Amino acid sequence: MYEQRCEHLTEDEVLKPKAEGCEECLKFGQTWVELRICRTCGHIGCCDSTPGKHATAHYHETKHPIMQSFEPGDDWGWCYEHRKRIGPFPSAR
Ligand SMILES: [Zn+2]
Ligand SMILES: [Zn+2]
Ligand SMILES: [Zn+2]
Repeated sequence: MYEQRCEHLTEDEVLKPKAEGCEECLKFGQTWVELRICRTCGHIGCCDSTPGKHATAHYHETKHPIMQSFEPGDDWGWCYEHRKRIGPFPSAR
């Protein structure tokens, strides 16, 4: 189940994807399983089932706390600080 909110979530975040796929995987010609979008900056990264784990890597690099699933129809997000699933959110695409 979801937590509704956490204090890392702010209302003025704009879900504007910076890329159509995982930016790092695209750069290295790799493939991904699922995509995640960073709610702070719109970075697109791959999920933890993908070898690159670039969404998680993005958090470690930037400390942007919240990502959301970028899969069609998915409504959940994840707070890396709280290690909790949050939402529901409107689908990111
Ligand atoms: Zn949080
Ligand atoms: Zn990736
Ligand atoms: Zn970010």
